[in-house]
Amino acid sequence: MDDRNNNHNQNSNQNGNHNRNIRNNINTLCVHGAEDANNTTGAITTPVYQTATFAHPGVGQSTGYDYARLQNPTRETLEKTVAALENGADAMAFSSGMAAMAVLCELFAPGDHIIASDDLYGGSVRLFDHIAQKNGVSVDYLDTGDIGAVRARLKGSTKALFVETPTNPMMRATDLEKIAAVCREKNLLLIVDNTFLTPIYQRPLELGADIVLHSGTKYLGGHNDVLAGFLVTGRAELSEKLRFLYKTIGACLAPWDCFLLQRGVKTLAIRMERITENARRIAAWLAKQPQVQTVLYPGQSGMISFKTDAAATARLILERVRLIKYAESLGGVESLITYPVLQTHADVPAAKREALGIDECLLRVSVGIEYAGDLIADLAAAVSGQ
Ligand SMILES: *Cc1c(COP(=O)(O)O)cnc(C)c1O
Repeated sequence: MDDRNNNHNQNSNQNGNHNRNIRNNINTLCVHGAEDANNTTGAITTPVYQTATFAHPGVGQSTGYDYARLQNPTRETLEKTVAALENGADAMAFSSGMAAMAVLCELFAPGDHIIASDDLYGGSVRLFDHIAQKNGVSVDYLDTGDIGAVRARLKGSTKALFVETPTNPMMRATDLEKIAAVCREKNLLLIVDNTFLTPIYQRPLELGADIVLHSGTKYLGGHNDVLAGFLVTGRAELSEKLRFLYKTIGACLAPWDCFLLQRGVKTLAIRMERITENARRIAAWLAKQPQVQTVLYPGQSGMISFKTDAAATARLILERVRLIKYAESLGGVESLITYPVLQTHADVPAAKREALGIDECLLRVSVGIEYAGDLIADLAAAVSGQ
């Protein structure tokens, strides 16, 4: 855990349970980020408030909860926790990462222009190309790590930059502080998909971003058992706009799923430590294999992309792994391996895939929390055709 994680978030306890202004470490925030504001029993965890609506104490009065599309206490605890982890003022929990993306797109109007990283999650490209564009919002993709290229593509109608860093699956990085300076100068929204690094390794709002997006399905949930998404912001006027869209569109996360997410987040910091340790060992081992030509690993978190010497080797590995499952998704305690060309990036146009280097030799591993030696043994057996 690096040092900047030691003095985190002065205002993280917003529910009144703590009147001391504790500067909690992020490890502690994962466990205690927010607690049930309505707790009268001493319960250690926030219960599942499985209710759609709330009775009013009198005419024109409210308990603070009216209808669960607007707010539910289980969701509220989770949202406050995620806001604290990202050092934001408000977080909204959605039924999936893509639901969060879809609501985000409603911030834009016909004629608006967005610049996005050119190696985004495939579902984000599908949403931009087939839904945002249909609604009159144009999206240009480029390497957002290249500030000059970003500046050259700015238009009068450009309203936002949408950045994934590192990108998926080619692990290209964007310097968020530098890009945030351009956004401030040009009055553009900086939106960052922080699914891959999580707030343990990167907190984009602290670096100048306006909105953070998460697929909570991945590391935040962490157990491959629930879909979720988040939007987090540090700015009151953005929170107000997003909350209006949130209650109007209704893609909110159900109480039970909120409970699972909250439970997952409690172990986020310790999972990320183990995942990173495992991933470093596996990336180092892969780099030494004669059948492996390139290894892309950003040094933190659990995503490793690598290129095999031939398409046949990649297929062999997918068919021979036992412990590591050949499945889409990432970020859970179980290690998974995917074939981006046929799975996550199947909807990205072939020419664009080729230009990015997403070909039939590319595999992507999401490293879990198993014993690294067992994962390496599984890969070793698969690579050698056993
Ligand atoms: C999975 C993913 C999404 C979409 O989230 P869902 O929860 O699957 O809807 C968005 N961005 C990234 C980087 C992802 O990995």
